[in-house]
Amino acid sequence: MSILIKNAKLLLTPTKTIEKGNLYIEDKKIVDFKKHSADTVIDASDHVVMPGLINAHTHIPMVFLRGLAEDLPLKQWLEKEVWPREKKVNGKIVYHAALLGMAEALASGTTSIVDMYFFQKELATAAKESGIRAWLGYGSMDGVPSSELDTEIKNERAAIRAVMDTGSERVMPIISPHSPYTCSKELLIHSGEASKELNLPLQIHVSETKDEVKQLRKVVGKPPLKYLDTLGLIGPRTIIAHGVWLTPGEVMLTSKRGATLAHCPVSNFKLGSGIAPIHKYIEKGMNVALGTDGPASNNSLNMFEEMKVAALGQKLSVPDFASRKVIDMATVNGARPLDGQLGELKPGNKADIIIMNLNGPNMAPVVNKTQIINNLVYGARGSNLSHVIVNGEVVAKDGRALRIDVEKSSRLLLKEMDKRGVL
Ligand SMILES: [Zn+2]
Repeated sequence: MSILIKNAKLLLTPTKTIEKGNLYIEDKKIVDFKKHSADTVIDASDHVVMPGLINAHTHIPMVFLRGLAEDLPLKQWLEKEVWPREKKVNGKIVYHAALLGMAEALASGTTSIVDMYFFQKELATAAKESGIRAWLGYGSMDGVPSSELDTEIKNERAAIRAVMDTGSERVMPIISPHSPYTCSKELLIHSGEASKELNLPLQIHVSETKDEVKQLRKVVGKPPLKYLDTLGLIGPRTIIAHGVWLTPGEVMLTSKRGATLAHCPVSNFKLGSGIAPIHKYIEKGMNVALGTDGPASNNSLNMFEEMKVAALGQKLSVPDFASRKVIDMATVNGARPLDGQLGELKPGNKADIIIMNLNGPNMAPVVNKTQIINNLVYGARGSNLSHVIVNGEVVAKDGRALRIDVEKSSRLLLKEMDKRGVL
């Protein structure tokens, strides 16, 4: 199967572009920028072609909670609204909610997600069916002090197997201890070791709220990231979700270890958690990626929206914060801990590509490269996308995920939620 995208403006990276060129895909990979004959030819005149967006932190099945739990800070939100409802959730709810979330993500240009949730078998099935590239993690938590260490280790192993059993090269496991305040020291150490032994990336929530940092410091005597580092969890394949309240020492440590921070500005604003000063983190050499967090605290899975909010959030203190930086965050920076063959359009890389129509009223007029980049961050919408390609396959077209029946999943999700008393 080969695809030729011709006559396009190619945004290889935010700083490397081809004004008018072709991109040839064969056998799931980008081959070159020459003209070929191909099974499928896409004329992309007046379109910009760029790497697919990478959502570096989400809980995609939380679609079922979208709009149901609002206007609370993180702690009360989790304890009063989220966790009681999650106790009633089953695999069917997760499966259909995940499909809806994946349909939204794909249709708005996200080609990869990093997820943390439960019911990995159903989640992995949904990911495989949708065509999205996904790193799926079981959000393990055994309490502090530990009350369920053995069970959680068993659950995590079963979750990894369930993901691997899909046999899909696009669906992979990621080690996902929930946080240093919900996981025991033993579970955290185990997670770090498992990541190294199995050569899997690791994600964990760190320093999302001021209060959580204060509480943990009382228990462990260190700031959260330093604590996790002493337990062996911080390395080049680690994704730190949030990191709103890192100390300057922790920022230096994260950079030194080559870890990635998944900045989730919409969720942080909505839960009143704060603004991570990522302009300072980037200055200190940290690899900063971008995530939506779950759709219950966002409420969407739209990475174009996330890029805009990320840039605006920094501009409150640094008005000259450049828009191209958030494109890096949503593409190549997100790829770094996951897969070196993603995030840039270059020969040999996996063909995860999005094609955006520049003729829409919200994108016109087209003036030059810098202006297009600015418009991608501040003006673009998923509905401007004509094609979304994952692994060399067109999986969304004109704002619709091709493999997912949204109406059917929506109906079945609601039915199951009603039956289980989740509503
Ligand atoms: Zn999260």
